[in-house]
Amino acid sequence: MTENGKPRELISTETLQRRIDELAAEIERDYADSKDLLCVGVLKGSVFFLADLVQRLSRPLVVDFFQTSSYRGETTSPGEVRIRRDLDHSLAGRDVLLIEDIVDTGYTMRTIMALMGFRGARSVRLCVLLDKACKRETAVQINYRGFEVDDVFVVGYGLDYNDRYRNLPYVGVLDEAEVEEE
Ligand code: 5GP
Repeated sequence: MTENGKPRELISTETLQRRIDELAAEIERDYADSKDLLCVGVLKGSVFFLADLVQRLSRPLVVDFFQTSSYRGETTSPGEVRIRRDLDHSLAGRDVLLIEDIVDTGYTMRTIMALMGFRGARSVRLCVLLDKACKRETAVQINYRGFEVDDVFVVGYGLDYNDRYRNLPYVGVLDEAEVEEE
């Protein structure tokens, strides 16, 4: 935490926005021939990233959201993921761009991507703002990656701690003691 009570900055607003310019240019190029792009965000963390990203895409597209919950209790297997709120749109025959805030162990994205394929998507690609690659427990193919981060707890730009800090315009770090204090 800094003197003004805000989490220490890890990735500045300017750096985030510059990288999103680059990701959008790459996506725009890769989907030049796609006529039916469905951009899917995972609530709630991806909302800020998705909003900034899709505003930079000029092709016609549809935005949809779903929400998951992870259960890591004693009665469930590690990494079990459940859908809490499902998509409004059908995936059949569509090009799906999944947009996520952060990949940690990889269980959430692995499950979601398998589900999208099962529902008949024509293609599924993954765009992730932050990749905590050092924590990966299961392989996930990331097609567009914003930044790699170390094993720290990040907040801001959509990412929360107990639903707080999402509105920070930068990505910051909460130290372990700060996470325990809250
Ligand atoms: P995974 O299934 O990859 O382990 O979990 C990904 C989810 O864990 C993310 O969508 C996010 O909700 C949460 N997560 C993992 N690391 C962090 C972090 O450093 N900060 C925050 N705010 N959430 C995290």
